[in-house]
Amino acid sequence: MGMTAEGDFTYNGGRVGVGETQNIRYGISETYLGDPVRIPVTIINGEDPGPTAFLSAASHGDELNGIEVIREVAHEWDLSDLAGTLVCLPVLNVPGFLAQQRYLPIYDRDLNRSFPGREGSTSSKRMAHRIYTNFIEPCDFGLDFHTSTRGRTNMIHVRADMTDEDVYRLASAFGTNVIIDSDGADGTLRGEASRDGIPTITIEMGEAHRFQQHLIDETLDGVKSVLAEYEMLSTSTVRWPGWRTIISNASEKTWIRADVGGIVHMHHTQGELVEEGDTICTITNPFKTDRTVVTAPFSGLLVGNLENPVVFPGNPICHLVALDEQTHRVVKQRQQKTADGL
Ligand SMILES: [Zn+2]
Repeated sequence: MGMTAEGDFTYNGGRVGVGETQNIRYGISETYLGDPVRIPVTIINGEDPGPTAFLSAASHGDELNGIEVIREVAHEWDLSDLAGTLVCLPVLNVPGFLAQQRYLPIYDRDLNRSFPGREGSTSSKRMAHRIYTNFIEPCDFGLDFHTSTRGRTNMIHVRADMTDEDVYRLASAFGTNVIIDSDGADGTLRGEASRDGIPTITIEMGEAHRFQQHLIDETLDGVKSVLAEYEMLSTSTVRWPGWRTIISNASEKTWIRADVGGIVHMHHTQGELVEEGDTICTITNPFKTDRTVVTAPFSGLLVGNLENPVVFPGNPICHLVALDEQTHRVVKQRQQKTADGL
C-alpha cells in the first residue's frame, strides 16, 4: 500500500493510476446485521508527480463544515493540472454521522482518540487502523477539518505543533489569523500522523450540525494556499492573512466559565477584540431580577463562543486569548475599518 515507483496510489484492494480519479466506498467495519460500514473516499492522482496529501473531516460525526470543503475540492475544482495526489476523506466517522453525533455510537468512543488504531483491538481502533494504514500512511501531509463542539462556535483557526518545522510550514501556508500551538493529544489523527512524520494540522471552523458557507469559502482559500505552497496547483498562490498570532502554551489565554446558572446574553461574537473590563455577557435568572455581568479579565481576542445561551455553573462561555501589543493594534484598526464600512 502507498505510492508505487510508477506513481500509482495503492490501497488494500485497489490502485489509482496516474491521471486517474476514483470514487470508492471503503469498508472499515460491519454493522450488527453484518452489512459493511463504508467510508466515502475520492482519490485524485494528478498527471504530474508531486506530494500526496489527505483531506479529512467528520471524525466527529456531527461536524459538517469540513465535509462540504472536501466535496467541493474533490468534485467542483478543476484539478486537471494537479501535481501529486489528493486523498479526500469527507466522512471518517460514518456511524456518528448517521446518528448525527460526535462520537461513535458504539460505547460512545471518540474515533479521534483511536488513531493510529490497531488490528485485533476495539471496534473504534480497528476502524482507525483501516483508515490510517490505507489512506493516511501513504501521505506526505494532511489537513483534518473540525468544528467547535455542539452548542459552541469558533472563528477559523489552525491547531498545529509549531515546534515541528514541517508542521510549521503547513500551518503557516494555510493562512489563518490565529494558530494555536499544541502538540495534539494521543490518539488524535493530527497528533499521531504528525509524530509519524506526516505533518498534519487541524482546522477548526464554526459550529457543529451546520453548513456555514462563509467559513467554507474561507477554508477553501486556505486549501488553495496550501496546494500552492507545495506546488501542487500552479493556478493558486500562498496567502498572507494580514495579521497572524501564534498562541503558545505560554500565552495568556483562558476559557471563561460561568459561576452561576442561567440564561446568557452575549455582548460580543467570536473573532472580536475585547478590552480588559469589557462586558462579555450577562447571565440572568428567569425573572430577570438577578443579573450577573461577566467581564474580560484581560484584553484579547474571542476565539470561541457559546452558541446555546444557557449555562450551569462551570460551563464555558468563551475562549479568550491575549494578543501581543502590535497585533492587538493591527486587529483593532482592521475591525474599526470594517465597522466603518471602509
Ligand atoms: Zn472535532
